[in-house]
Amino acid sequence: MKYTEKRFETAAIHHGYCTKEHLGSLSVPIFQTSTFTFDTAEQGEARFAGQEEGFIYSRLANPTVRALEEKMAYLEEGEAALAFSSGMAAVSAVLVALTKANDHIICSQGVYGCTFGLLQLMKQKYEIDHDFCPMETEEQIRQLIRPETVCIYVETPINPTMKLIDLEMVVKVAKEHGITVVVDNTFCSPYLQRPLLFGCDVVIHSATKYIGGHGDVIAGIAVGTKELMAEIAKTTQKDIGGVLSPFDAWLLLRGVKTLAVRMDRHCDNAEKIVERLKQHPAVANVYYPNDPDHYSYSIYKKQMKRGGGLISFEVKGTKEEAQRLLNGLRLIHIAVSLGDTETLIQHPATMTHAVVPEKARMEMGISDSLLRLSVGLEAWEDIWSDLEQALNQL
Ligand SMILES: *Cc1c(COP(=O)(O)O)cnc(C)c1O
Repeated sequence: MKYTEKRFETAAIHHGYCTKEHLGSLSVPIFQTSTFTFDTAEQGEARFAGQEEGFIYSRLANPTVRALEEKMAYLEEGEAALAFSSGMAAVSAVLVALTKANDHIICSQGVYGCTFGLLQLMKQKYEIDHDFCPMETEEQIRQLIRPETVCIYVETPINPTMKLIDLEMVVKVAKEHGITVVVDNTFCSPYLQRPLLFGCDVVIHSATKYIGGHGDVIAGIAVGTKELMAEIAKTTQKDIGGVLSPFDAWLLLRGVKTLAVRMDRHCDNAEKIVERLKQHPAVANVYYPNDPDHYSYSIYKKQMKRGGGLISFEVKGTKEEAQRLLNGLRLIHIAVSLGDTETLIQHPATMTHAVVPEKARMEMGISDSLLRLSVGLEAWEDIWSDLEQALNQL
């Protein structure tokens, strides 16, 4: 915790916006405009030359989007942030900006499906190679480092097994070789984990999840140094063009105001559900970071504030029992995505990880009986009673 000016909860509400500059409007105005007019030809020239501050065109910058970027940079304790039209637009803008042909990326074993797809594409089309690494020890990472390695890409907790990667350990190895560390912090949000404080260089979010929090917007965020974000803004963000719309930025600004309150409730609910799942006779295993029995508990204590809203668990049996559980639910929705007010459940083997070949899937710990639950903000008693009645039917 390093905030000097405002604490997280306060900054999530107030940072980066001044009502006095906007006719007293409490809510950030939606600047729904494609372009900005110049008073004179000379002003236009000065703006394009970067000699005068000011807006030009909304693909380059927009005041509503800028307010969101300033808030996210502060919450992640980074220097600058950029907002994108999706989490994948953020991931691709960052990875394309950091690499060139013949470079090499080391990626955590277990990564979001489309990030996996992007790495394949970069390899096939641009000869940017990658290796996957369990990242359990420094040695495992060191063995894969080549002179061309420019980036270590980490997801923690890993989806859907909730295994954690020790960020301090990854940074230690990366710094020895001048390698940039990028962390996908979607599952935690800055309220639970701030990778930049451990020395990581870039944080990425699918803001579609906890940042938005209400299941109504697709968006992405990247946070890092001023220098790197400026570079991305004028290259991959501007020229590939996956920018966030002013209205979607406004939805995220509204969502993020309650991030701290929502995350605490997600965590409270998840803790109650974990306790009960662990005792249910139809459940074989439960995976949750804030659980002394979890394989990554020591890493959890080092780098996460609380366990988050995601739980994975295996039912006793196979795919048939897993699907039977889903079909028995009445309140909980069957859906991918996460971090919403509604509790959602999905079957990774046939949904989010259906494209992963069975052998690789098993190595990643994704069995046919594994389910991933995104615990929502409903009363935990109602979430549990729905799960319990469905589990009792197995
Ligand atoms: C959803 C997700 C993404 C992709 O984000 P979109 O907003 O869907 O493009 C990336 N990483 C993680 C961990 C995700 O959960």
